[in-house]
Amino acid sequence: MASALASDGARFVPIWGDQCLVSGQLPEAVLLTRRQVDPYVDEDNLIFLGLFRDRPAFAVPISKALDAPFGQLGEFQSLRHLGTILPADEANLVAHARALVLWHRSQVYCGICGSATVAEAGGNSRRCRNPDCARELFPRTDPAVIVIVADGDRCLLGRQSNWPEGLYSTIAGFVEPGESVEDAVRREAFEETNIRVGKVTYHSSQPWPFPSSLMLGFVAEAETSDIVLNDGELEDARWFTREELRNKAVGLPFRISIARRLVDHWINQGKATAECA
Ligand SMILES: [Zn+2]
Repeated sequence: MASALASDGARFVPIWGDQCLVSGQLPEAVLLTRRQVDPYVDEDNLIFLGLFRDRPAFAVPISKALDAPFGQLGEFQSLRHLGTILPADEANLVAHARALVLWHRSQVYCGICGSATVAEAGGNSRRCRNPDCARELFPRTDPAVIVIVADGDRCLLGRQSNWPEGLYSTIAGFVEPGESVEDAVRREAFEETNIRVGKVTYHSSQPWPFPSSLMLGFVAEAETSDIVLNDGELEDARWFTREELRNKAVGLPFRISIARRLVDHWINQGKATAECA
């Protein structure tokens, strides 16, 4: 770790508060040299991210209480916006850096005995300083499910009241303790829309580091069709046909979001079925 830190090739990802440094019209992540970040490097609390383009990479936390540094090199921006426009490997790197920085900040004290904790393993874990406790803490990932529920040629989409007007998306929610992801899909669909779901099939996943979720995407088959907004989380939910979605009857989520990927998968599945017929 010491030689990686001292090497000329080492690069540092600054995280100011919870924002990431980028520059350019088509934004790129700004990676800094040791010399540039030196005032902010705390060698006892390193956060090693692994190798990025064959160079050792570290995250460097910078307090939001300070004025944003490196103004001549770029601008700090929210990952929520950047995640969709940075090159994929840079988006992964800054998401990793930001997630670990936020995790370290939230784990300063042991949750069992209240003693201070210290970073270990290049900042990939922490340990309680109390030798009688010595609890080890690891970064958490919280699973969430997101699902497109289909009923033949109709699919179920809903909207929350604070979303942009006309935008509809797939059903989603957090997995509860002791629950399988398939049961989480069934519970969320029922709680939000009163729809009973039978077969649940895994499709794909997407990290959602706000602060530490992983979205697990599913395709599911409905067993009932009467919508009731049981828990009030959604303002509206409806069945939409493929034709309605192709004709842009409603707004759909961003193209690179997993929600949109699930919707597009379902629309294209219809095309494949029609061609076979
Ligand atoms: Zn402890």
